[in-house]
Formats: sequence, structure tokens, C-alpha cells
Amino acid sequence: MSTNVVEGGCCCGAIRYRISGTPTNSMVCHCQSCRRVAAAPVVAWVTFPTQHFQFLHGQPSEFHSSEPVRRTFCAACGTPLTYEHRDHASSVDVTTCSLDDPNAFPPTHHSWLTHDLAWVRFGDGLPTFGEWRPSSNPAQT
Ligand SMILES: [Zn+2]
Ligand SMILES: [Zn+2]
Repeated sequence: MSTNVVEGGCCCGAIRYRISGTPTNSMVCHCQSCRRVAAAPVVAWVTFPTQHFQFLHGQPSEFHSSEPVRRTFCAACGTPLTYEHRDHASSVDVTTCSLDDPNAFPPTHHSWLTHDLAWVRFGDGLPTFGEWRPSSNPAQT
């Protein structure tokens, strides 16, 4: 599967990225931080080894949603792109829906239901967790 290559980018096309390999995690995050960053009820993420991710063109803007956390986004159109935690520098989380094919890596679970909005309802039958799934890669905090 290491020859698997997927690409994605922001809405306006200014920023493009390429990923090789298979993700180590794929989930839907209900946490407040992701919600504010995306202005969306939930945000889906796929996690890859950092060395398998590269920006192809465009320079993303970045900010720190908490001190050890670096998030990147397109300054022109606002699309959230990546999440990196300093304590887990070997992996990068990529917004599933910035992939050209968001169907490529379906989520396996939902995290951070303790932060969920009262009106969010999912009927997908996937496991839910109040915070991180205990066995998952704790790339996000
Ligand atoms: Zn853009
Ligand atoms: Zn989150």
C-alpha cells in the first residue's frame, strides 16, 4: 500500500498537497477547537506519518490553537488543512474533506463527544468516545 498516493488542497486551489501511504487513523472530531477553526459542527481528520505528507504548491498560513498545536489553512479562502502537535511530531492530521476524494479514508469512530453540540446527530453507527479513543494515535489534544 506504500505506493498509494492521494492529493488534496484548499477550496480556491492556491494550496495543494500530496500524501503517500495509508493513514494511521481516520475519525470525526467533535471538539470545540476543531469546531471553531472550521466554523462547522464537526471536522473529519485522517492521520499520516509526517514524512508522507508534503505541500506541492502554495504557502499555508498557520496559527496555534493551543501552545503546542500548529494548524495550517489557506489565507485566501480559509480552508483548514492540517493539525500538528509538537508532542506527536511524527504524524500530521489532514482534514478529510480537503482531500480530492474524501471517500478514500472513511472514519472509523467519533471523538470528543463531551464537546458536542446539542443538535448534532449521527446515524452512522460508528463508535463514539467522550475524548480520544483510548487506542488511537493521540496526535490531537
Ligand atoms: Zn485557498
Ligand atoms: Zn478536534
